[in-house]
Amino acid sequence: MKTIFEKSVQGKYQDIIPKCTLPEVTFPQELTRSAALELLEISETEMSRHYNQLAQRAYGVSDGMYPLGSCTMKYNPAVNEEVAALKGLTDIHPQQPASTVQGWLRILKIGEDYLKEVTGMDAVTFQPAAGAHGEYAGIRLIREYHMKNGDDKRTKVIVPDSAHGTNPATAAMCGYEVVSVPSDSEGGVDVEELSKVLGNDVAALMLTNPNTLGISDKNILEITEMVHEAGGLCYYDGANLNAILGIARPGDMGFDVMHMNLHKTFSTPHGGGGPGSGAVACKNILKGFLPGIKIEEDEEGMTMGLYEETMGPIGLYYGNVAVAARAIAYMLTLGKEGMVAVAKNAVLNANYMKTLLEKDYHIPYNEGCMHEFVISAEDLKKETGITAMDIAKSMIDNGVHPPTVYFPLIVHEALMFEPTETETKESLDRVSQILLDIRKEAYTDPQKLHEAPRKGQIRRPDEVGAARNPILVFEDGKDL
Ligand SMILES: *Cc1c(COP(=O)(O)O)cnc(C)c1O
Repeated sequence: MKTIFEKSVQGKYQDIIPKCTLPEVTFPQELTRSAALELLEISETEMSRHYNQLAQRAYGVSDGMYPLGSCTMKYNPAVNEEVAALKGLTDIHPQQPASTVQGWLRILKIGEDYLKEVTGMDAVTFQPAAGAHGEYAGIRLIREYHMKNGDDKRTKVIVPDSAHGTNPATAAMCGYEVVSVPSDSEGGVDVEELSKVLGNDVAALMLTNPNTLGISDKNILEITEMVHEAGGLCYYDGANLNAILGIARPGDMGFDVMHMNLHKTFSTPHGGGGPGSGAVACKNILKGFLPGIKIEEDEEGMTMGLYEETMGPIGLYYGNVAVAARAIAYMLTLGKEGMVAVAKNAVLNANYMKTLLEKDYHIPYNEGCMHEFVISAEDLKKETGITAMDIAKSMIDNGVHPPTVYFPLIVHEALMFEPTETETKESLDRVSQILLDIRKEAYTDPQKLHEAPRKGQIRRPDEVGAARNPILVFEDGKDL
């Protein structure tokens, strides 16, 4: 497919801007362009077709199930888009005085109060723009806490091997040494191994829960107590909060700080790279260090300021407020019962699909799962040569988005499915049947699976090469 720049033809330029009737002003030369601005010259019809074709090449939840584990690619109610696009919410400037943005401040305060209730925490900031960004803010808060207590010998952050990959990356970004703890046979943190690494050099433990195996840790209370006893603090990675929404609260489990991915659980379409929101919630002991804007209410109305000992801004102003607006609209429309239903259906759907598949596919940690589960294709690979990648690519030929593959690392030939709460039983049945058929084909026609995808937009790109040496600038004449 040609880029829109290649489709541009000189002379087609449409003069849609009316001729200027105001007196012309000449700017100083250093402020003007030295060469003419190269604008596209393309008809409106062609432009509309171009973007339509591009949209048809993409796959989204509007096309079908998108079971990408740990990403919560679910249907996001369109009404939340309308709320976020309300003119009163979009046509303002972040530097307007508080008296002129009373509505926004009240909305954000409601959002904070709801999320405090959902998480069992004491304060919330919307400033972080993504999950990983929220983790960064959270671990920095923990650092501020230890430093304030003169406890500067704590140089380590414990991260179980079933954590999301951003957890160790965050700890390292914040200057900590990452200490890995293995999982036990049930997929939870190996508590005995944990006790061996705990000590007065540990700043924090970061727990992804449910972990990347889709399992909620059974020993969670014991774990947070052990960490606290050693003087460390506990971080909860709540990116996939739909597994426990309205049912269990990290604040009650002994965690001191956490983030939520509003763009996952709370209804912002994502996958194209943003904008997102990794709202951070924390207990009172960390509240004073929070980044972002402190919103309060007095007799005059809503006010804004900074937290007393703030670690400084880590993003802009209030964060990505449109994402927060969607999240708040989502929570208000769901209400308490609706939020509980989200969690129950997310867990039910994953367990239903797992049950359909477990007769034919090996599921290593199969004790019941939360919102997602992980299949291993190791046995299939040994018997037929068909890998997790072959299965994933064959799903594309069947019109379904593949799951997350080769993650978590502790499962070989891993395929991580997160069906989400917004899929119907029929769609779970259909996709499971596709997977069962692929398994049969591995024995009868493995070559077909090795060659997949035949129907995708591209075949099998060099993914490592694309990540390591990305070509980010369009070169004229090069076919994309
Ligand atoms: C998605 C995810 C993250 C990272 O969130 P981003 O918004 O992509 O930075 C962190 N932890 C878990 C468990 C996740 O699923």
